[in-house]
Order: sequence, then C-alpha cells, then structure tokens
Amino acid sequence: MNFDYEKNLDRAYDNMPEFLTTDVRFSIPEPDVIIEGKTTVLRNFREITDTLNRDPSHLLKFLLREMGTAGKSDGSRVIFQGKFTTEDLQSQIDAYTSEFVLCSECGRPDTALVRTDRVLTLKCAACGAHRPIRKRKVREVKSKDAIEEGGVYDVKIIGVGKKGDGYSRVDKYTIYVPHTVKGEIVNIKITHVSGTLAFAEIVERKSKE
Ligand SMILES: [Zn+2]
Repeated sequence: MNFDYEKNLDRAYDNMPEFLTTDVRFSIPEPDVIIEGKTTVLRNFREITDTLNRDPSHLLKFLLREMGTAGKSDGSRVIFQGKFTTEDLQSQIDAYTSEFVLCSECGRPDTALVRTDRVLTLKCAACGAHRPIRKRKVREVKSKDAIEEGGVYDVKIIGVGKKGDGYSRVDKYTIYVPHTVKGEIVNIKITHVSGTLAFAEIVERKSKE
C-alpha cells in the first residue's frame, strides 16, 4: 500500500472527530428533577453545564430569571424554591441552549461566548459565524398600582387564553396581549384596565423562546 496514502488517511481520521463529535455526541442530559418539600432539586445541573460547556453560574442566573424564583447551587446540584416539573426545566434549558450555545448558522454547539466592549457575542468554532446575544431586560413591576392605562411594560407571556390571546400576570392583574405566544417577552402598552383584568397591545417584541 502506498505510504503517503496511509499517512493521509491517518491525518484524515485525526481531523474527523472535530466534525463528527458535535453531531453525534452532543446530547444534553435530560434534567434529573426531584421535588423535596417546597423545593425542586435539579440533580444533574453540573452534568448539563459540562455538556453545554458553559459557566454554571451563567445558566443558573438565566434559570432563576426565567423561572422567576430563587435558588442556589449545592455541589453539582441546584435547589430551586417552588415546584417545577422536568418539562419546565427542559424548556428553559432548551431556550438557554438555543440562545447561548448553538450556532445559528450551522447549528453546532462548538461555540464560545465572547464579550467585547459591552456586547456579548456567540462565536462558532466550527463555521466561524458570530452573532450578538440579545439583551433582555425584563423590568419587574412590583407596585400594586403599577398597571395603569397608557403604561408601558416589559412582560413575559406565561400562557394563552381560551380566545387565543397570550397573557401575563403582574401582581393581581392578568394582562391579555393579542398575537403573542407562551414564553415570549414583549414590551406592551396597557390599553384598558377592568378590575384585575388588563388589555394591552404590543409595542415591541423582545424575544421568543
Ligand atoms: Zn457555526
């Protein structure tokens, strides 16, 4: 057999795993979730961040913000206040993965988060693409009198009502926002308040999960 041929074959094999691993091996472990009293324990948190190759504190911060709860890491686990299902955690981790891990050009996870100036950028090692990470600022509306007609707020759509309109909740108010889907973060303007029901229109769409 031709010596150069074998040598080239070896080299080809040496180079291959870089391209193969991402498609074959990148599978995020399913969240291992147990309820303990009034808390939810994500037992394989560290395994998940290892697979995603991301800073555990970055994912934790994301989960706490999106789930609207408190929590802390405990060794390789995370303990959240409140009860959450495996599906709850799964959908949040999926959202994190698509926003902070997967390349939007080639779909591979071989990426790094790079901060230049004040902009966070996702850079792909596989194809060289890069994209900015959207800034998401969800303003918390705390005061009971905060919801008023004409007021503008950022809210997260937490469900869809019987008539197909998305809704959010702020304190005692349920705010209906037409043409939205669950998980979406929108900037809205309150058009009408009736008792604890409020109706709003979209000013700007912030993100969709
Ligand atoms: Zn890429």
